Amino acid sequence: MELPSEYKSEIRRILKDDADRYFELFDSAPFRGISVNRLKITPEKLLPLLPFEATLSPFYADGFYIPSDAEGIGRHALHHAGAFYVQEPSASCAAGLLGIEEGDRVLDLCAAPGGKSSQIASLLGGTGLIWSNEVVKNRAGVLLSNFERMGIYSGVVSSARPDVLCSALEGWFDRVLVDAPCSGEGMFRKDNSAVNEWSREHVCSCAVRQLEILKSAVLALREGGVLVYSTCTFSEEENEMTVSRLLEECPELEPYDISEPFGRRTSLANAARITPLEGGEGHFAARFKKRGNSPRREFTSPARRGKQSDCESLGEEMLKDIFVDLPSGRRMCIGDKFYIVPEGLPELSGLGVIRAGVLAGEMHGRRMEPAHSLFTCAKPSSLKRTIELSSSSPECAAFLHGEEIDCSGEPGYTGVVIDGMTTGFGKCSGGRLKNKYPKGLRNC
Ligand code: SAM
Repeated sequence: MELPSEYKSEIRRILKDDADRYFELFDSAPFRGISVNRLKITPEKLLPLLPFEATLSPFYADGFYIPSDAEGIGRHALHHAGAFYVQEPSASCAAGLLGIEEGDRVLDLCAAPGGKSSQIASLLGGTGLIWSNEVVKNRAGVLLSNFERMGIYSGVVSSARPDVLCSALEGWFDRVLVDAPCSGEGMFRKDNSAVNEWSREHVCSCAVRQLEILKSAVLALREGGVLVYSTCTFSEEENEMTVSRLLEECPELEPYDISEPFGRRTSLANAARITPLEGGEGHFAARFKKRGNSPRREFTSPARRGKQSDCESLGEEMLKDIFVDLPSGRRMCIGDKFYIVPEGLPELSGLGVIRAGVLAGEMHGRRMEPAHSLFTCAKPSSLKRTIELSSSSPECAAFLHGEEIDCSGEPGYTGVVIDGMTTGFGKCSGGRLKNKYPKGLRNC
């Protein structure tokens, strides 16, 4: 692969004596990894079920290397079940730096396709709230589908400009992640097109855009809150210099040192860089704290309407039919769609919100039909009817293929549980389960 000479000079400046070893690594396979989703399973339970060996990565407590030749991961039953997210190992470093605590509200400002949002949701463990924003509308769809697969219950997906979103939600978040669009130098070993798109001008324009996004992010953060900035590039212009400019322009921020033992140190105590020499394709992460300690801001939620609509009462009946333990959250209908929405959200209009909470069902004439996403975030023990399948069974393969399978339980909507994780549902009748796994997700 022919690397741009200006890029090579920059790498020599950054890596010094290590630069030749870095260039030699272009002949070996890129690193691959997964991050485990604790909303669904623990690493201890998952690892023995995987059809390949996974070894702990140094970048994230629940991050693992997988073999570079592991095939068909996206079609594997455990992937369908949301047990893990396929994520380049070094990309997993940023979420851990947020220092997430129970009940936090976390904003992931540049979120698609959703790797770091999945980690954040896993770290929140079903408490607090994750708000994932992706400005590019057609990328926000992938983000939403990953939200559903991972079983994220207390979350919001939006597609808004960072300045619009962050000024409306000023001071509302405890943690903010900016995993910014960048020149992608950390993608070079696995993606030739990233090399072809690289230019000095592109690096400079990325740096300008990164600073703008970061300045918005600072607004959304509460006093005392933590901001993490990450990129998948090595460039000092986009990394260290953007950090310095941000600290100059936002005196309300202070550097927050990174003590986590990964990557190589940079000239800044609050930033670390990972290169293939440290076992990842390439990432940079910097951490900040917002000065002060006043509590996060609260907005009054829009008032509830008095009387339940038909849609809402049919939705509630449906929930009672499916659940032993009813899900918490506010019930709300928009048109024919029935949602369960986290409490305490601000006014959402004008914020490009694509999904708040969970789509629970949809009216079909006078009937409420449950939605796939209602089941993916349900704990098996909360459901009245389930079918338990092993990820390696022929019945599991048949279900993910969209076929009918046997069911011996009582008739009705039934959760399909794969190795302990609710993955979808069907309707049991006459000993057969009518498959409701969405057509677009089925293995073909
Ligand atoms: N955090 C994501 C993950 O872990 O899956 C990856 C994010 S990617 C590095 C950066 C994202 O920023 C892209 O999805 C891109 O569409 C989005 N983006 C592009 N221009 C932007 C802008 N001006 N403001 C905010 N986000 C932008």
